[in-house]
Amino acid sequence: MIYLDYAATTPVDERVAEVMSRCLVSPELFANSASSHAPGRRVNQAIESAREQVAGMINAAARELIWTSGATESDNLAIIGAARFRSNRGRHLVTSVTEHKAVLDSCHALEKEGFDVSFLHPDEFGVLAPEDVSAAITEATTVVSIMHVNNETGVIQDIRAIGEICRSRDVLFHVDAAQSFGRLPIDVRADHIDMLSLSAHKTYGPKGAGALFLDARRIGRVAPLLHGGGHERGLRPGTLPTHQVLGMSKALEIAQRNLAGEPPRIAALRDHLWQRISTIPAVQLNGHEARRSCHILNVSVAGVEGESLLYGMRDFALSSGSACISDAAEPSYVLKSLGRSDQLAQGSVRFSLGRFTTRAEVDQAADAFAATVARLRDLSPYGLPDGMD
Ligand SMILES: *Cc1c(COP(=O)(O)O)cnc(C)c1O
Repeated sequence: MIYLDYAATTPVDERVAEVMSRCLVSPELFANSASSHAPGRRVNQAIESAREQVAGMINAAARELIWTSGATESDNLAIIGAARFRSNRGRHLVTSVTEHKAVLDSCHALEKEGFDVSFLHPDEFGVLAPEDVSAAITEATTVVSIMHVNNETGVIQDIRAIGEICRSRDVLFHVDAAQSFGRLPIDVRADHIDMLSLSAHKTYGPKGAGALFLDARRIGRVAPLLHGGGHERGLRPGTLPTHQVLGMSKALEIAQRNLAGEPPRIAALRDHLWQRISTIPAVQLNGHEARRSCHILNVSVAGVEGESLLYGMRDFALSSGSACISDAAEPSYVLKSLGRSDQLAQGSVRFSLGRFTTRAEVDQAADAFAATVARLRDLSPYGLPDGMD
């Protein structure tokens, strides 16, 4: 089985696993970090030094970072927590239709509480115009949430331009950076980001670990979603999972250290894959050709059906445009929003590459893809698609 689904999750890096297992068995590190005795203080120190380290990677201060269970929780806490906390100032939010479900469903939950949400449409390449964000902001807007890198297409949004607009209009700007950390540099100050969601498992760390950055000068508090002990300044109560926190900081440290070398290597593999696949007739790239993260290649194939395509590629771990949603027969809402027909959205495959992907694997995937498409077209009930000779 060849794994080409790094956008869904990544394997844990051995160096991360080592830090985590050492933490789990260490008699020095099992205490509750909230305890005031010496073992508790020692664990607290380890957690605080991880916090400082991760915060530093995005140009934030340690006190601006909250540990969570992942980007889903961070998205919920940022969007719902900030909107509720500021509801006396206004009850309007701005986001886009291509956001992750964690953002969209948080917005839908707020709509049920009487908030209004503007869902903006990106262009046919998946790129959102910053001017559209500007035009959508009203007197009542309190939060704008736009992702950095899209998890289906890899499209990179111009978060710095959007951040500038939000700052000038005094609106809070939230960015979901689950896919971009370790692949693109992130600087919350230069990008004018007020809230940023991170996930460990998209960057060779453990599942169930994440963080939320909250700019101390812009947003002191959000309304918490959980209630309990006063951990994490009362914003996210619950005993901190020491091994998860240390594993996450190790994973992000490795990714950050490799920022200059790893993304270009993966981008070259991704480009090689596209170069080979693009020779197949009636295959289209989904997303912007240039404004795209190194690790994702999403293609639609005319004249074949997505399920059959994935079945033909069953020796490869891949995603179709609909894999993130349990109702897998539904065509991807992200691809549909780019103007793809149901058939093209369904006949799509997301290849996502990563640290352990080799050129030989990419070549095998390209060979198998060409063979599968050719075979399915011979059997296709759709007939030859337009534009195919
Ligand atoms: C994976 C992902 C999430 C969810 O992250 P978890 O840590 O799995 O909760 C949110 N947003 C984007 C863009 C993602 O790719």
